Amino acid sequence: MKCRACHAEIAANALICYKCGTATSEPRIPPPAARRRGSRWPLVGLIALGGGLAALAQQMACGSLL
Ligand SMILES: [Zn+2]
Repeated sequence: MKCRACHAEIAANALICYKCGTATSEPRIPPPAARRRGSRWPLVGLIALGGGLAALAQQMACGSLL
């Protein structure tokens, strides 16, 4: 295959161009996905906290009625 950057003839299974170092396939970067998964946890915690507060508020409302 040919390098998309410098058009040098490179091996079909080559990961990067030996001439310019450009990756032959679209770069797959795991860190952003891991970071996205990590940033989802505070949201889950926030929802759990909101649910807990709602339940607590309901209990308090029931308690005040009795
Ligand atoms: Zn190249």
